[in-house]
Amino acid sequence: MASYIPVDLRNQVRACDRNRCCYCKTSEDLSGIRMAFDHIHPRSKGGETCFENVCLACRSCNEFKGDSTTGQDLLTQQTVPLFNPRLQNWHQHFA
Ligand SMILES: [Zn+2]
Repeated sequence: MASYIPVDLRNQVRACDRNRCCYCKTSEDLSGIRMAFDHIHPRSKGGETCFENVCLACRSCNEFKGDSTTGQDLLTQQTVPLFNPRLQNWHQHFA
Protein backbone atom coordinates (compact mmCIF):
# COMPACT_ATOMS: atom_id res chain seq x y z
CA MET A 1 0.00 0.00 0.00
CA ALA A 2 1.47 3.34 -1.01
CA SER A 3 1.69 5.92 1.71
CA TYR A 4 3.14 9.31 2.32
CA ILE A 5 6.33 9.26 4.34
CA PRO A 6 7.55 12.67 5.52
CA VAL A 7 10.90 13.83 4.11
CA ASP A 8 12.46 14.06 7.58
CA LEU A 9 11.52 10.45 8.29
CA ARG A 10 12.82 9.32 4.89
CA ASN A 11 16.14 11.03 5.58
CA GLN A 12 16.35 9.52 9.07
CA VAL A 13 15.64 6.01 7.74
CA ARG A 14 18.12 6.39 4.85
CA ALA A 15 20.85 7.56 7.22
CA CYS A 16 20.21 4.78 9.73
CA ASP A 17 19.97 2.04 7.10
CA ARG A 18 22.92 3.49 5.14
CA ASN A 19 20.99 3.18 1.86
CA ARG A 20 20.91 -0.61 2.12
CA CYS A 21 18.05 -3.07 2.20
CA CYS A 22 17.45 -4.05 5.83
CA TYR A 23 16.59 -7.62 4.81
CA CYS A 24 19.24 -8.67 2.26
CA LYS A 25 21.75 -5.80 2.77
CA THR A 26 21.84 -4.90 -0.95
CA SER A 27 23.25 -1.42 -1.41
CA GLU A 28 21.24 1.11 -3.37
CA ASP A 29 24.50 2.53 -4.72
CA LEU A 30 25.63 -0.86 -6.06
CA SER A 31 22.26 -2.01 -7.37
CA GLY A 32 21.36 1.32 -8.93
CA ILE A 33 17.75 0.68 -7.98
CA ARG A 34 15.94 2.98 -5.59
CA MET A 35 15.03 1.37 -2.28
CA ALA A 36 11.46 1.26 -1.06
CA PHE A 37 10.33 2.40 2.36
CA ASP A 38 8.92 -0.71 3.97
CA HIS A 39 6.45 -0.69 6.83
CA ILE A 40 7.87 -3.46 9.00
CA HIS A 41 4.44 -4.04 10.48
CA PRO A 42 2.24 -3.37 7.43
CA ARG A 43 -0.07 -0.39 7.38
CA SER A 44 -2.83 -2.75 6.29
CA LYS A 45 -2.44 -4.44 9.67
CA GLY A 46 -2.27 -1.25 11.71
CA GLY A 47 1.43 -0.43 11.35
CA GLU A 48 2.32 3.21 11.89
CA THR A 49 4.48 5.48 9.78
CA CYS A 50 7.25 6.16 12.29
CA PHE A 51 10.97 5.45 12.53
CA GLU A 52 10.44 2.31 14.60
CA ASN A 53 8.25 0.83 11.87
CA VAL A 54 9.83 1.98 8.60
CA CYS A 55 13.00 0.65 7.00
CA LEU A 56 14.61 0.49 3.58
CA ALA A 57 13.92 -2.57 1.47
CA CYS A 58 14.98 -3.49 -2.05
CA ARG A 59 12.20 -4.14 -4.52
CA SER A 60 12.63 -7.92 -4.31
CA CYS A 61 12.47 -8.08 -0.53
CA ASN A 62 9.63 -5.56 -0.37
CA GLU A 63 7.51 -7.46 -2.88
CA PHE A 64 8.35 -10.86 -1.38
CA LYS A 65 7.44 -9.69 2.12
CA GLY A 66 4.25 -7.96 1.03
CA ASP A 67 1.99 -7.55 4.03
CA SER A 68 3.26 -10.67 5.78
CA THR A 69 4.30 -10.53 9.40
CA THR A 70 5.16 -14.20 9.77
CA GLY A 71 6.86 -16.89 7.77
CA GLN A 72 7.59 -20.59 8.01
CA ASP A 73 10.87 -21.67 9.59
CA LEU A 74 12.22 -24.22 7.11
CA LEU A 75 14.04 -26.16 9.85
CA THR A 76 11.23 -26.44 12.38
CA GLN A 77 8.23 -25.95 10.06
CA GLN A 78 6.83 -23.54 12.65
CA THR A 79 5.26 -20.20 11.86
CA VAL A 80 7.58 -17.49 13.20
CA PRO A 81 7.61 -13.68 13.18
CA LEU A 82 9.55 -12.12 10.29
CA PHE A 83 12.82 -10.31 10.98
CA ASN A 84 12.34 -6.85 12.49
CA PRO A 85 15.34 -4.68 11.56
CA ARG A 86 14.54 -2.12 14.25
CA LEU A 87 14.37 -4.66 17.07
CA GLN A 88 16.64 -7.52 16.03
CA ASN A 89 20.27 -7.94 15.01
CA TRP A 90 20.61 -9.07 11.38
CA HIS A 91 23.67 -11.29 11.98
CA GLN A 92 22.10 -13.05 14.95
CA HIS A 93 18.74 -13.53 13.23
CA PHE A 94 20.15 -14.95 10.01
CA ALA A 95 22.99 -16.96 11.58
ZN1 LIG B 1 16.53 -6.84 -0.09
